[in-house]
Amino acid sequence: MRAQPLVEIKKVSLNYHSDEGEIAALRDLSLDIYPGEFVGIVGPSGCGKSTLLNIVAGLIQPSKGYVLINKKEVKKPNSLVGYMPQSDQLFEWRTIWKNVLLGLEVQGKINEETKAFARQLLENYGLINFKDIYPRQLSGGMRQRVALIRTLAINPEILLLDEAFSALDYQTRLVVSDEVKQIIRKEKKTTVLVTHDIAEAISMADRVVVLTQRPASIKNIHSIKLSCEENTPLKCRKAPEFSDYFNNIWKELEMHVR
Ligand code: ADP
Repeated sequence: MRAQPLVEIKKVSLNYHSDEGEIAALRDLSLDIYPGEFVGIVGPSGCGKSTLLNIVAGLIQPSKGYVLINKKEVKKPNSLVGYMPQSDQLFEWRTIWKNVLLGLEVQGKINEETKAFARQLLENYGLINFKDIYPRQLSGGMRQRVALIRTLAINPEILLLDEAFSALDYQTRLVVSDEVKQIIRKEKKTTVLVTHDIAEAISMADRVVVLTQRPASIKNIHSIKLSCEENTPLKCRKAPEFSDYFNNIWKELEMHVR
């Protein structure tokens, strides 16, 4: 029997109200996400992907429907959820160490134990020697790893990644997505990645959810099974099944672009 879902998105609709009138961003969207799963969400630009993540993070409330995490309704931001935005949002005037502690500081959870955990993460992921320098001294890929460690330091169960690699150049992005996937696997986090990059979603995710044009609902869900010897996103791009998934998802999205 399959485990209980960790996140349940139940018939969620969201309308934004602006000076130009009402914008329907999501309509009747339902999705279950299971513990330990990596879910990739793709959809046409402006269809409502970030809106959906914001609702799961408790940053905005749906107009209709609701989200449950561990069977409890999400009404505000919650320490079970770690959110990693598009740009790394490191503070340039704080050292790497002080940046990594930021989430803990905001949550009032700085103590010897949490600091030791943050330090261990920096050690495990090759950044401990950089702890006393400033973000501008790091490469884009390293900055992204620091941003992930900052999110992991609060020890969330669920990671929400919003176009987390889109600010990086293509090659760095491939390397960083490999590193990030390894870290997430080791730390056993349930992850939702929003991306406009179909290949990134297929190479990283267990399931790829394709959204319709705005107002977004679910168009299709693909369970991804790639035969690759080394299970890393970079190697999995060469799996024989990869191009079939890519072409199918491309076609589903192309219809909307037209
Ligand atoms: P995506 O992440 O798929 O690009 P978003 O979730 O950011 O899409 O936005 C969905 C739609 O809602 C877009 O048309 C966007 O312009 C609109 N939108 C997003 N945030 C707001 C807001 N705060 N007020 C009004 N409209 C918004």
